[in-house]
Amino acid sequence: MRGESMSDAWSLERDAIPAAIAARRQTRQATVRWGENVVTVGGGAPVRVQSMTNTDTVDAIGTAIQVKELAIAGSELVRITVNTPEAAQAVPFIREQLDRMDIHVPLVGDFHYNGHRLLTDYPACARSLSKYRINPGNVGKGDKHDRQFAQMVEIAARHDKAVRIGVNWGSLDQELLAALMDENAQRSEPHEPQQVMYRALIESAIGSARRAQDIGLRGEQIILSCKMSAVQDLVRVYRALAQRCDYALHLGLTEAGMGTKGTVASTAALALLLQEGIGDTIRVSLTPLPGQARTQEVVVALEILQSLGLRSFNPSVTACPGCGRTTSTTFQDLTKQIDDHLRAQMPQWKARYPGVEKLKVAVMGCIVNGPGESKHADIGISLPGTGEAPAAPVFIDGEKAMTLRGDGIAREFLAIVENYIKTRFGSAHDQHHTAQV
Ligand code: SF4
Repeated sequence: MRGESMSDAWSLERDAIPAAIAARRQTRQATVRWGENVVTVGGGAPVRVQSMTNTDTVDAIGTAIQVKELAIAGSELVRITVNTPEAAQAVPFIREQLDRMDIHVPLVGDFHYNGHRLLTDYPACARSLSKYRINPGNVGKGDKHDRQFAQMVEIAARHDKAVRIGVNWGSLDQELLAALMDENAQRSEPHEPQQVMYRALIESAIGSARRAQDIGLRGEQIILSCKMSAVQDLVRVYRALAQRCDYALHLGLTEAGMGTKGTVASTAALALLLQEGIGDTIRVSLTPLPGQARTQEVVVALEILQSLGLRSFNPSVTACPGCGRTTSTTFQDLTKQIDDHLRAQMPQWKARYPGVEKLKVAVMGCIVNGPGESKHADIGISLPGTGEAPAAPVFIDGEKAMTLRGDGIAREFLAIVENYIKTRFGSAHDQHHTAQV
C-alpha cells in the first residue's frame, strides 16, 4: 500500500464492495388472518414478529390483556397455550375481548398431546384461532400418531387456517429418531449421532408438512420450524432445512434463557440466519427476569430486525458509549430521555407521521466523534465533554443548525426533535401549525 496512490490501490469498478445481506430466500407465502387483518409470512413479505403469552389461558381476561400488550409492542401474531378443555373454552372469549378492544392480532393456538381432541370438541376454539401450532413429536405414539395428526390437519384445512409444524429438539419424534439411529448403525461408515439428530428434526418437519399436504392442506398454509437451544445447532439445521423445502420458516432459538444471555444468544442465532436470507417470522424465547414485562421478547425481536436493516419500527438513537471525556451523567440522561420519549410517542406517531420510524437521531458525548456522527444522522447533538466549553451544537440534515447552552439542553433538544418530525413527516396541517407556533 505504501508508495501506491489511493487510486492505484482501489478501483471502484474492480473492487465494488459486495452486499452484506443475502437476498431473502424464495418461499411460498403463508397467510394468517383474523377478519380484515391479514398477516402474510414468507414469499417476499417483511419478516414478521411473533410472541407467546405466559398467562394461564383459562384466565381469559388476563390473557387478553397480555395479548393486547404484546400486539401494541409490535407482535404481529400472538401464540397462546391451549392445553385443557377449559383453555379451549376460554379461547373464543379471549378473541371476543380482543376484538372489543380493537386488537385484531391473529391468535395462534399451541397444541401438544391432546390438540386433536380439543380442536374437535371445541369448534368455537378452532374457529377463533388463526393458526394452529402442531408439534409432530407430541401428537401421539404408534398408530395414534398419524391418525391424530391427520385429525388436526383436517380441521385446519376445513377452517382454512394456517399451521405451523413446529419441531423442537426437546420433544423430537422418538420413533423417527430411533428408526434413523438404527438405519445409521447399519451403515458401513455411520454418521455422528448429532448428524442423525439433525436429520431427524428436518425429516420430522418436512415429512409432516408433506403428509399435511396429502391430507388436504395447501403448501401455502404451512410454516415450518425446527427449534434448538444452541446457536450453532440452530444455524446448521435451518441452513439444511432452507435448502430442502420452500415452505415459509419460523425462526427462533428455543429456551434461549434470561436477560443478557437470552438476548445475546437469540440475536446471534437469528442474525446469522437472517443475514443469509433465511427466516420469514421470528420469535425470541426469552425467560423474563423477575418483574420484567413479557413484551421484552417483542422489543428484542424488533431490535434484531431493525439493527439488521430488515425493517424499521422506531426512530433509532445512535449514541456513543461514553468514556473518560464524559464524566458527568448528562450525556447518559439525555440519551435515555430521547430514546424513552421517541418510543413512548410511537403508538400515536406511527399513524400521524408516516415514515417517522426511519428517523435517525444521534446523541454524542464529545467533540471527538460528536459532530461527525451527528451529521450522519437526521438530527444530532454533540454534548460538551469534560473540559469542553458548555455548548452543544445541534446538526439538522447534516448542517450545524444551532448551539444549545445552559441547563435546559435536554428540554430544548427534545422540542427541536419534535418540530423536525412534524415538519418532515407531518401533514400539511401539522406543518402549518408548527410554522405558526
Ligand atoms: S464521542 Fe467522545 S465521549 Fe463519546 S466515546 Fe467518543 S471520545 Fe468518548
